[in-house]
Amino acid sequence: MEIVHIAAELAPLAKVGGLGDCIYGLARAFKDKDNKIEVILPKYDTLNLSEVENLHVFLNDLPSPFEGERYVNTIWKGQVHGIAVTFIDSHDPYHFFKRGKIYGCPDDLERFAYFTRAALEYLQQCKRDPDIIHIHDWHTSLAAPLIKKHYPRLGKVILTIHNMLYRGVGPAHLLRKIGLDAPELKDGAQINLLRGGIIFCDAVTTVSPTYAKEILSDTTGDTLCALLREYRFKFKGVINGIDYEYWNPQTDPYLSTHYNAKQPSGKKKAQKELRELFSLQDKAVPLVGCVTRLVAQKGPELIKQALFRTLERGGQFVLIGSAHEEETEKRFQTLKQTMGTTAQAHIGLTYDEKWAHLVFAAADIMVVPSIFEPCGLTQMIAMRYGALPLVRHTGGLADTVADGINGFSFLDPTAESISKCLDRAYDVWESKREIWDKMVDKAMQEDFSWKVPAQEYLVLYNSLLKTVV
Ligand code: ADP
Repeated sequence: MEIVHIAAELAPLAKVGGLGDCIYGLARAFKDKDNKIEVILPKYDTLNLSEVENLHVFLNDLPSPFEGERYVNTIWKGQVHGIAVTFIDSHDPYHFFKRGKIYGCPDDLERFAYFTRAALEYLQQCKRDPDIIHIHDWHTSLAAPLIKKHYPRLGKVILTIHNMLYRGVGPAHLLRKIGLDAPELKDGAQINLLRGGIIFCDAVTTVSPTYAKEILSDTTGDTLCALLREYRFKFKGVINGIDYEYWNPQTDPYLSTHYNAKQPSGKKKAQKELRELFSLQDKAVPLVGCVTRLVAQKGPELIKQALFRTLERGGQFVLIGSAHEEETEKRFQTLKQTMGTTAQAHIGLTYDEKWAHLVFAAADIMVVPSIFEPCGLTQMIAMRYGALPLVRHTGGLADTVADGINGFSFLDPTAESISKCLDRAYDVWESKREIWDKMVDKAMQEDFSWKVPAQEYLVLYNSLLKTVV
């Protein structure tokens, strides 16, 4: 089967969060199944090209339509950890992908609309005939209406919604710029790119069964949830996996010490290293970690409360948080300043892959108190690294963490609720070591690899190929 992913992220060279991990893991899972897999990505100026092997120009001057003009693109190809990747290097006058970041520009809608159309032009002009085009989130949702209206030869389209919060909403004139006549995308006075993806694709998935149920049973009057209810016959939740080679405490190149479930002593060394790195006191208390984007969805107030409660109980807390919302960033800057220097906590307001790996390896507990969570990968990574996740019972967190078995969970998004949950975890760590060790063992033995989800996607892809148009 020939499967092409068109996406805005690919770990580890273009990653903001779980979307990048997901494309990486899913593509690699299929690479092992004798399929032809390709990921198409913008050639951002921020790409970590040291992760790309055999990078070369495949095609010069590939034209792509935008606002009545035809801008040219250079098509690059390379391999990322065994995945064939095609990069669209756009020579548009706005320098769409030379902005020093992946998202967060006022013209993000134009940027990704341009990229999506260019990706389809590349497939069409190269006379490609993929079986499946897998698109992800609002960034590449336009591929679904574009394929149905302009490139019908290009194959079946499946859309995965990684997070319904982000929809690609903007002014209707974008459609004229991209050359698409699709009134179906209108949502009130504006257009909604995710809406177009849902209507025109052949199948829609989201990243966990519980999140799928939550969306379908939404009672807030959300128009996209209503739309998904209308299209529920082609919608399902498939839990994400994590790449078990990339996330492996036995071989992780970011760690200087390795371990596994049978010989967990390397974890102690990782704790020592983390404490040294962040000037934390070297003492035998629980290390609580949090690796996250600092946005409202992730429960920033609950993260703060977890930090306060950990310190009250005599534990230590390490946060690696990347800021994406000004307001949330300010709150954490203030918190960092107020706390001053302490030997019991570290607040790192940055994105750092190496630090993230070390925190997963060193932590006893990883907190993930999301207000909502489509899937969540950090709880699964935590378990793989022998840290017990402490999560709010929602979305994919509810599908992967069983309270008292492989982690801890709480329901109410309140300071009291998370504090009580932390107290329970702290008590087990402190005075029921046998139970703690059993839970860690259980967590490390869980299989959150892509094996099962990839099989589900394979069944879905096959069912689409059997569908008569
Ligand atoms: P989301 O995609 O909503 O951000 P997920 O839990 O699905 O959340 O995936 C988060 C991914 O991004 C994980 O691989 C996590 O390790 C990584 N990550 C999040 N924040 C940071 C950070 N500040 N530094 C390094 N890695 C991060």
